[in-house]
Amino acid sequence: MAHPREPSFHAAAAAAAAAAAAAAAAIAPSLQRHEASTAGPSRPPRARRNPTQAPRDGKSENVPPPFPWATNHRATVHSLDFLLSRKIEIITGAVQCKRCEKQYEMGFNLREKFVEVGTFIAENKSSMHDRAPSVWMTPVLPTCKYCEQENSVKPLISEKKKSINWLFLLLGQMLGCCTLEQLKYFCKHTKNHRTGAKDRVLYLTYLGLCKQLDPNVAGLESGIQGVVQWIHNDFF
Ligand SMILES: [Zn+2]
Repeated sequence: MAHPREPSFHAAAAAAAAAAAAAAAAIAPSLQRHEASTAGPSRPPRARRNPTQAPRDGKSENVPPPFPWATNHRATVHSLDFLLSRKIEIITGAVQCKRCEKQYEMGFNLREKFVEVGTFIAENKSSMHDRAPSVWMTPVLPTCKYCEQENSVKPLISEKKKSINWLFLLLGQMLGCCTLEQLKYFCKHTKNHRTGAKDRVLYLTYLGLCKQLDPNVAGLESGIQGVVQWIHNDFF
C-alpha cells in the first residue's frame, strides 16, 4: 500500500527547497552589490554632506580655500596674526590693464596696506555714515607696469564667487570693482545685513574684512582706531 503522505511530503520538501533556492538567488545579487559597495575600490562611496552644515540652497558653507590666505569658509580670510606668523606677507592677485590689456599678477604688502585701509577708516568713519565714500565706490586703480597708464589696472575678479580674492581687493581698496551681487554674497556668508544700495553693502564688506583680519579688536563697530593701535603696538 502506498503511503499517501510520502509523495506529498517529498513534494512539499522539494517545493520548500526550490523556494529556498529561489530566495537565495534573489538575495545573492544584493549581497554582492552590498559587498562591492563597501569593499570594492572601483566604486568609491559618495561623500555624505553633513546636513547640519548645509545651507538651505544645498551648497556647503565649506569650500576648498582658494588662496593660502583664505579659510575653507566662504568669503572668509585668515587673521593678520595667523598670516604673519606663517610668513604670508605679500598678497597677490590677477589684474588686467584696461589700455594695453596685458594680464599679470601684482602683490600688496599685507601689513602696510592693512594699516593704510585701517588709517583711512579711522580718519573717515565718522563722516561715512555707514556708507562707502566715493573713493571706495569708484576706486583709483593702479598704474600699469607695462604701458604705465595711470588708473588703468583692474582686478580680475573670479566669476565663481567662492573663489573671489577678497583680501587682495581689500588691500588694494578695490572692493568697489565688485558687483552688488558679489558684495551681497560676501555679506550673506559672513552674517551681515545684505540688503540695500551698493554703498551700504560695500561699506559692510570693508569693515567685515577688517574684522576678519583682526577678530580680537574691541569696538570695531564704533571705530577702527583700535585696529590701527593694535597694529602699531604689535608690529611696529
Ligand atoms: Zn597697460
